[in-house]
Amino acid sequence: MLQNYTSNAAAIADADKYLYGNHARMPIVMDKGEGCYVWDLDGRKFLDFVGGIAVNGLGHCHPAIVKAMEERAHTMLHCSNYYYNAPAIQVCKMIVENSCFEKVLFANSGAEANEGQIKLARKYAVDHGHPERYVVISMLKSFHGRTLATATATGQEIVHNPKWYSPLPEGFRYAEFNNLESVKEQLDDKVCAILTEPVQGEGGVRPATQEFLQGLRDICDERGILLMFDEVQVGSGRTGKLFAHQNYGVEPDTCSMAKALGSGVPIGAVCARGDAAKTLIPGTHGSTFAGGPLACGLAAATLDAMLNEGVMEHAAKTGEYFRAALRKVAEKHPGAVKEVRGMGMINGVELTDNEIGPKVVDKCFEQDVLINCTAGNVLRFIPPLIASEAECDIVAAAVDKALTELGK
Ligand SMILES: *Cc1c(COP(=O)(O)O)cnc(C)c1O
Repeated sequence: MLQNYTSNAAAIADADKYLYGNHARMPIVMDKGEGCYVWDLDGRKFLDFVGGIAVNGLGHCHPAIVKAMEERAHTMLHCSNYYYNAPAIQVCKMIVENSCFEKVLFANSGAEANEGQIKLARKYAVDHGHPERYVVISMLKSFHGRTLATATATGQEIVHNPKWYSPLPEGFRYAEFNNLESVKEQLDDKVCAILTEPVQGEGGVRPATQEFLQGLRDICDERGILLMFDEVQVGSGRTGKLFAHQNYGVEPDTCSMAKALGSGVPIGAVCARGDAAKTLIPGTHGSTFAGGPLACGLAAATLDAMLNEGVMEHAAKTGEYFRAALRKVAEKHPGAVKEVRGMGMINGVELTDNEIGPKVVDKCFEQDVLINCTAGNVLRFIPPLIASEAECDIVAAAVDKALTELGK
């Protein structure tokens, strides 16, 4: 019989029994959400500045998403990639018309989209007469996913721990983010692509410098290799533009998207231009579910709201307001905060003390505010893009109070 859970405690008791323990979770069971707020099974309400890790860009139960969901429920959820479906075409058209890209290929997640970029880069090299090129240079502290190839591309040993997962796929090298010399040290005739996030998310909310991204573009142009961006976290409107790289004016050859693109349904995408938009031919890459009408119907509604209802402009403006509010908090706790940084609605507060990040998260939780801590000591704020200035004030005040209570 279908179990009906009505309290956190009852559900978590069963979770402890049946649910695989591969995630460390806060002790609440999410029940429902509206806008920037969520409720747990006990009926407790939280202000949600985690936003499903940058997935709920339009917040919870946005009317445009509810409508798209209803429409899909009454028409079609899935069809095979043997056929076209209209929502998928709408999504590609919107992305292409608002970017430097010419073609879009679908996947089901960020990792899968990045896996697609890696395959694309290797075949691109072969197609262009360089079968000896297969190495992808990615950055330290990056995050690209948890499949074997994308975990290996991730420049963090904790993700691709060779002790556990060997043999790792060959052909990955790491360089320091925002350090062109370090990238140049890794270059040789085997390199087929450079992969980076324009703003590192998991690595601690670190925006690339203009000089770094432009320098990577120049290197790739000189060598005829691909510049690939991972915009799984910072694309889809998060930085106030459809793509974070549009804030820099540096155009990659390919770019991945995922998190906020489907407003909660799994979807990923690889966007490509030039010859990179022609590399993956039938039989090279794809997936049963990728680009299906359910995910694409929601992605189309998401992009429509982002592009045509001022959501991205709002994110740019509110993000600036929020950083100013966080800087005021930082001034009140001079020894505690190393830096406030971010772009649009991805923001971070780097703490000086490596121990207190998780404690601040817990103290905010006590105040019914959800945030998270990444890279050990960086408080990360990735709320719905529709969050208001008043909601930003509540979160800044919660962080202020948390630091005070921790004696910082
Ligand atoms: C989350 C994330 C991924 C992985 O996406 P999944 O959908 O979890 O596979 C890849 N790259 C970046 C930058 C991410 O933030």
